[in-house]
Amino acid sequence: MKSFDYFAPTTIREAVDILAKYPDAKVLAGGTDLLVHMKLRVRTPDVILDVGRLSGADALTIDRKRGLTIGPAVTMRQVELSQAAWKTYAGFAQGASVVGSIQIRNLATVVGNVCNAAPSADVAPGLIALGAKVRIAGPKGRRSMQVENFMTGPGQTALQQGEFVTGIQVPVPAARTGSAFVRHTPRGAMDIAVVGVGASVTLAARTGACQAARIVMGAVAPTPIRAKKAERMLRGQRLSEELIAKAAEVASGEARPISDVRASADFRRELVRVLTKRMVTAAWEDAMSKTRSKRRAA
Ligand SMILES: Cc1cc2nc3c(=O)[nH]c(=O)nc-3n(C[C@H](O)[C@H](O)[C@H](O)COP(=O)(O)OP(=O)(O)OC[C@H]3O[C@@H](n4cnc5c(N)ncnc54)[C@H](O)[C@@H]3O)c2cc1C
Repeated sequence: MKSFDYFAPTTIREAVDILAKYPDAKVLAGGTDLLVHMKLRVRTPDVILDVGRLSGADALTIDRKRGLTIGPAVTMRQVELSQAAWKTYAGFAQGASVVGSIQIRNLATVVGNVCNAAPSADVAPGLIALGAKVRIAGPKGRRSMQVENFMTGPGQTALQQGEFVTGIQVPVPAARTGSAFVRHTPRGAMDIAVVGVGASVTLAARTGACQAARIVMGAVAPTPIRAKKAERMLRGQRLSEELIAKAAEVASGEARPISDVRASADFRRELVRVLTKRMVTAAWEDAMSKTRSKRRAA
């Protein structure tokens, strides 16, 4: 590996100053993507900025008003072990819990997964289904944007020169919201998704009809994408097996997969159909279980 200068700032201000001084610096989190690229000399940065020592970087907090806050050094394993994350943000926790192996999950961060911007990134569908935002700091100050718009292509993000991600915020879900994620991999573990699907469903209080739904597909386009036509079919309707099956069919038509060594485009479309049906049903069941537990508490 080529030698490089290493900085580990403790404040965001310091990090912004370092990135201003070294515009080509690469940000390091867990290194499970970046160090592999550096060893293969796909990337050969002269300067590395490690976000792991930033104050509060490894904090994973849940707040009744702000929702879930994920620091830039929060690992997949932290999420996997967080009962609170599973309870309220199941679709996201499921994505984090399938990444690589336990050794990888101890290093790999949620923010790194999103910034690496692989179309198959396992936490992205769940985060997008739950309306998560990326928090960004840079020379022009701070801003935030939806994770949905942050990943712009394979390995590409909306970050401008000198900017980095300070965390991810997942809002408090509306009452009676459930979510789910699943991916298909030929191998049981240590494999990347051939297709991943995340879904969220919110049920209306009085009627129990579907008030809002999101369906997010991974590894079937240059970035994770929403199946917006299928979502529209569900909104305002009483959910049923038949309706969900029809929406899954439509989602399959919205996927834009390629054929590659891992799967054909046709197989990926069929997977989208099957997994969407399963995940919308799972999110619906999760939402119903929350409705029941709310009634019990009342
Ligand atoms: C054996 C193995 C198995 C894997 N299995 C899976 C899998 O099943 N599913 C999956 O989705 N991925 C998998 N991956 C990929 C990888 O583990 C994940 O993408 C991981 O979440 C990346 O996080 P990291 O902290 O290691 O990021 P890093 O490698 O540190 O960084 C990744 C990229 O994001 C940038 N970056 C990191 N943090 C920031 C920040 N705060 N601001 C701006 N840019 C930033 C880096 O510059 C780099 O370009 C696997 C990798 C390996 C080696």
